[in-house]
Amino acid sequence: MPELPEVEALAGYLRERAVGRRVERVEVAAISALKTYDPPPSAVSGRAVAGAGRHGKFLDVIFDGGLHLVVHLARAGWLHYREAFPSTAPLRPGKGPVALRVRLDDGSGFDLTEAGTQKKLAAYLVTDPAQVPGVAKLGPDALAADLATFTERIRGRRGQVKGVLTDQAVLAGVGNAYSDEILHAAKLSPFAITDRLSDDQLAALHGATRTVLSDAVRRSMGQRAAELKGEKRSGLKVHARTGLPCPVCGDTVREVSFADSSLQYCPTCQTGGKPLADRRLSRLVR
Ligand SMILES: [Zn+2]
Repeated sequence: MPELPEVEALAGYLRERAVGRRVERVEVAAISALKTYDPPPSAVSGRAVAGAGRHGKFLDVIFDGGLHLVVHLARAGWLHYREAFPSTAPLRPGKGPVALRVRLDDGSGFDLTEAGTQKKLAAYLVTDPAQVPGVAKLGPDALAADLATFTERIRGRRGQVKGVLTDQAVLAGVGNAYSDEILHAAKLSPFAITDRLSDDQLAALHGATRTVLSDAVRRSMGQRAAELKGEKRSGLKVHARTGLPCPVCGDTVREVSFADSSLQYCPTCQTGGKPLADRRLSRLVR
């Protein structure tokens, strides 16, 4: 799932490549992906791309005259920039992975795609990003929050730090992958309870959040958007590395599984060497 660094890189790529280009037309192939109907997609035709930005994990493509295409890529969604399209024929609804296509006046453009059968990609055409429910309830940006704000947000929501850090209403932008990396860098157990964290632990968590996210933004920006893949991140130390050695201490990275997700951590770095209980495994053992 694309998180803050990948979405930031996509926005950066669009700013570099698409700003100033005029929209020829917007084609919607997956009707369910477009969550708004007023203004209609045809309202974008003839407008220039004025900018691109990010709200947490939401991508915001800004058009002349204050129209915004706000996109949540969900788990398997992505934006592919095309230098050219194979055909000028309009997309056929319901066929293939392309949910929405934006054609620009130089023949280039971009596709919002979604792999798999679970269709969760959501696009909104709005005059104000705050009209998107998911954007309206975002907390402060995880990369921009200063220590005081960060501390107040994290301590203000009692729970396991992994869950609180990925709660978009607490802080916006961090998901499953980067929270594993941030907690590893901060040497904190994913199950530590937020309102029991010391000032030093919160300072470490804040520092780790900034470092991990800004390093990932830099790495993502270094790749071309077409090659950027949410599932092919580089430089991760624990996330999706179950069974491999921790690059910091050499201990084996372990995993805790949940119904539809999992987390990875290093026992030596994060939990005093003790493995965390994996409820799925202990259920199997019983
Ligand atoms: Zn380690």
